[in-house]
Amino acid sequence: MAQLTAAPPTTMRALVLEDYGHLSVAELPTPEAGPGEVLLRIHATGICGSDLHGYTGENGRRRPGQVMGHETVGTVVGLGPGARGGEAGLGDLVTVNPGLACGQCPACHAGRGHICRSRRVIGVDPDLTSAFADYLAVPASNVVPFTSGSSGASRVTHGALVEPLAVGYHAAVRGEVREGADVLVLGGGPIGQAAVLACRRLGAGRIRVSEPLESRRLLVAGLGAQVLDPAAGDVAEQVQAGGPAEVTLDAVGSSATIATALNATQPGGRCVLVGMAAPDVRLDAFAVSTQERTLVGAFCYSPAEFAATARWAGEVPDLLASLISLRVTPEEAPAAFSDLARGHDVAGKVLVVFDPVHA
Ligand SMILES: [Zn+2]
Ligand SMILES: [Zn+2]
Repeated sequence: MAQLTAAPPTTMRALVLEDYGHLSVAELPTPEAGPGEVLLRIHATGICGSDLHGYTGENGRRRPGQVMGHETVGTVVGLGPGARGGEAGLGDLVTVNPGLACGQCPACHAGRGHICRSRRVIGVDPDLTSAFADYLAVPASNVVPFTSGSSGASRVTHGALVEPLAVGYHAAVRGEVREGADVLVLGGGPIGQAAVLACRRLGAGRIRVSEPLESRRLLVAGLGAQVLDPAAGDVAEQVQAGGPAEVTLDAVGSSATIATALNATQPGGRCVLVGMAAPDVRLDAFAVSTQERTLVGAFCYSPAEFAATARWAGEVPDLLASLISLRVTPEEAPAAFSDLARGHDVAGKVLVVFDPVHA
């Protein structure tokens, strides 16, 4: 690869959130790998729902002037001082765990850096360089090798799916999904899709998914799930007609879906709240207390789950192909953000491809 021998250019393209609802392609200085960091040539970065809500200003978790992007895949093209000896070396294809935890607190010591209180996140924290750009400098300890099994263009971009796939996997683990489990997933967007694949990976039996958009129902049906259309009647009743779920993963997170999750899950079963549609919800307390259902939270993934998901994702290229609906260039990205924010429906993931050599 030519870029390994040539020094990176001094400036690069980056998508800057100029203001809420306005993204531009800007020329920024190429970051340098600091002590313990590696420099990545970014191949592709996925647009996350949280990026869209940050773009519109709805979630208050992104600030004008910043570069977003946390679902990414790239090649290591530079090593900062002391970065040698990590898991990834020059020329390696890697994905990035975007969570930077302190490494010192009880959560970090327990292997749960994702709930570290001083955690900062690439693509969220405006002071960190982020992945909607040609180059990204990140701590060497946050890169995870991604073996795509082929130098094939589209397979390389699967590395950008590892982050959302890890979110779905962690939710299924929090739900204690086991071999043969009867699972319900609420919401068939990228996190619901990731949850379906995670349940399959854990050996679940029947997997049902409720999703209002037809294109997404088709996509999740292709992943091996039975689909339910909320327009056809109360989702909990539709589920109960075929027998209650043992575990429900709520990938939406609204008052309505939490009520559905509880009513569709058997007494003593588990409901996992992974969707973040609303900061406050109404909860039917008796559906929890008198039926002894367990309501658990799921957020991101542990570092070990992220690494395990990266290994798994490299082995199942055919399963992942349908998860990518659209690839756009950085120059097309501002229009893609605007379309998506205005409610343009896309079944799967939209990727911004920075390096056409690989895509
Ligand atoms: Zn995301
Ligand atoms: Zn910590």
